[in-house]
Amino acid sequence: MKLKMQKSEQLMNLSRSLMPGGVSSPVRSFQAVGGQAFVARQGKGPYLYDVDGNKFIDLVCSWGPLIHGHNHPRIVESIVDALKDGVSFGVTSEPEIKLCQRVIEMIPGLEMLRLVNSGTEACMSAIRLARAYTNRNLILKFEGNYHGHADSFLISAGSGLATLGVAGSAGISKDIVHSTLVSGFNDIESLEKLFSEHGERIAGVIVEPVAGNMGVVRPSMEFLSSLRNLTEKYEALLIFDEVMTGFRLSSSGAQGIYNIEPDLSCFGKVIGGGLPVGAYGGKTKLMSLVAPLGPMYQAGTLSGNPLAAAAGLASLELILDDKRNFYQLLDASGAHWKSYLEAHIKHKSYPVCVEQIGSMLTIFFCEKPPRNYDEAKVCNLDRFKSFFWALLERGVYYPPSQFESCFLSSAHTEEIMERVAEASVGALDAAFEVAK
Ligand SMILES: *Cc1c(COP(=O)(O)O)cnc(C)c1O
Repeated sequence: MKLKMQKSEQLMNLSRSLMPGGVSSPVRSFQAVGGQAFVARQGKGPYLYDVDGNKFIDLVCSWGPLIHGHNHPRIVESIVDALKDGVSFGVTSEPEIKLCQRVIEMIPGLEMLRLVNSGTEACMSAIRLARAYTNRNLILKFEGNYHGHADSFLISAGSGLATLGVAGSAGISKDIVHSTLVSGFNDIESLEKLFSEHGERIAGVIVEPVAGNMGVVRPSMEFLSSLRNLTEKYEALLIFDEVMTGFRLSSSGAQGIYNIEPDLSCFGKVIGGGLPVGAYGGKTKLMSLVAPLGPMYQAGTLSGNPLAAAAGLASLELILDDKRNFYQLLDASGAHWKSYLEAHIKHKSYPVCVEQIGSMLTIFFCEKPPRNYDEAKVCNLDRFKSFFWALLERGVYYPPSQFESCFLSSAHTEEIMERVAEASVGALDAAFEVAK
């Protein structure tokens, strides 16, 4: 089967003359899989429809926010209700208070929160706060982790940068490069070395507690506990970037699963219910440094937007109100798909492996699940491309890059996952057939 894509092609041609690459965010260009990107028309539950009338089971879910699938009636209703009262006020409104209250209730140890408009802003503000609190300059991050596109983070970053094979980014000042230390993910030795050399100058360590932006990479328990111990020992702040994992892996994020309390947490994606939101928070003692209480400035014209807060709140309430165990069901979908894939991979002896944690899953075109970015980079990207297109032709939209995670939603029912499982082993066979 060949996909009809005439209308997408026309629109993308126009789009490319208006926007760099025809997109508002690089991965959407399909550059990493080398082919025609489709233009979306509508989303409904687990499905995404394009302008040519193709219907795909969506494993991207807007890159994570849509944990209840596309256009969940309750989220739509909450946005429409809020809309009747106005789009933005420029003063505090009830939806943002309620959203903060919910998030603070759900994350143990979190006492205060500041709402922003994106995950990037949340992470950028969290490191500013770490510098303000410690009066130190250095920030430590991990190879292959992505914390948004603020200057300090575009050094050995994952996601779109891993995809495009760009080592960093043009336009970043040398001073910023020099104030960012980089360690390998899961690499305790390199971490200890960096701390013994620079510990007294490190303001904070920012980490994706479960990495998703080089594909899904699990942390070792020892790695996360060394991080907690070293930051305590050297009095640097530990920042968990839970923009992806927060309210996706559990109702208390990755920190709940691994039982480690960071000093600051960053959120985004799920807490906006599909509208633009981010948040950062921690203990009152730290958050009191943020303006207007303290000397660290950070602001936003549309921050705490009532529509976005209402959508985020509805998203969290859907999780809490689910009488079944919301996360157990999501985990089961991921685990079922993983075991189906693994049985087939083993049977055919394909050099492919699957990493999955809850509703996040990556099929890596390499022999064993990567523990860090170096190990992820050895994947066979040509094979991945063939797989991506073979799966799209089978009606399933997988993230158009090897270095991303799939995101399942509660709209991905058993029946949908059965179809995903069958289509994905078919696509694997096609990818290995083509390459022979
Ligand atoms: C998506 C993401 C970000 C950036 O969020 P934006 O809303 O795209 O700015 C930051 N950190 C992690 C872990 C992410 O997955």
